Amino acid sequence: MKNLILIAPPAAGKGTISSYLVENMGYQHISTGDILRNVAKEDSERGHFVSGLMKEGKFIGDDIILPLFKEELLKIKNQSFILDGFPRTIVQADYLTDLFQEIGIDDYVVIQLEIDSSLLLKRATGRRVCTSCKATYNVYFDGFKPKVENVCDQCGGDLIQREDDTEETFKNRYEVYRSETEPLIAYYEAKGKLKKVNANVTEEEILENVKRCLND
Ligand SMILES: [Zn+2]
Repeated sequence: MKNLILIAPPAAGKGTISSYLVENMGYQHISTGDILRNVAKEDSERGHFVSGLMKEGKFIGDDIILPLFKEELLKIKNQSFILDGFPRTIVQADYLTDLFQEIGIDDYVVIQLEIDSSLLLKRATGRRVCTSCKATYNVYFDGFKPKVENVCDQCGGDLIQREDDTEETFKNRYEVYRSETEPLIAYYEAKGKLKKVNANVTEEEILENVKRCLND
C-alpha cells in the first residue's frame, strides 16, 4: 500500500479518510498538530518551550517542526502512513523529498481532494458537535442531521457549533489553504506524484477513489 500525502481544504473530509485508512487498512496517521500537542505534554526543555508557544498562540517555525516530524516519521517508516497537514510549504516539501530519499521512501502518492467551495462552506458551518460524547452532525445534510434540533441522537447531550466552524473562520482558512497549497500541487504534479480525487460525491465513492490511488 502506498504512503499518502493528503492535500485538502478545511472541511473536505480529510479526517474521515484518515480514520478509515487507520482503522481498516493499518495506516499510521501523522499530523503536525498531534506531534506538537504530544511534545507539549513532555516534561522536558523542548516540551515546555513548545507548550509555551502554543499557549501564546505563537507561530511554530520549521526549526522546531522539521526535526520533530523527522523523529515521528522514523518511528513508523516501515508501515504505511498518511501525512495530514504536512508539507504545507515548498520549503517543507523540499525537506520531505530529501528525507524520503535519505530513508529510502519512494512509494507514495499525493492526493488532492477537489471540492466545490459552496459545499465546503455548508460542511463547515453546518457542523454541530455533541458537548458530551463528541458525536458530530450536520444540519444541512439529510442523514447527518440530529433527529431533534440541537440534541445528540446518541446520548441526549447538547449540540454546539464550534468557534472554528463559523463562516468567517472558514473563509479565512480556505484562503490560507489556497495560497499555501497551490504551489504544492504544482510541485507534486511536476514529480508525477499528484492524483486528484473528486470529493463532491458520497463518502463511499471518495473512499473507493482514494483506495484506487493507493493501489495503483
Ligand atoms: Zn452525544
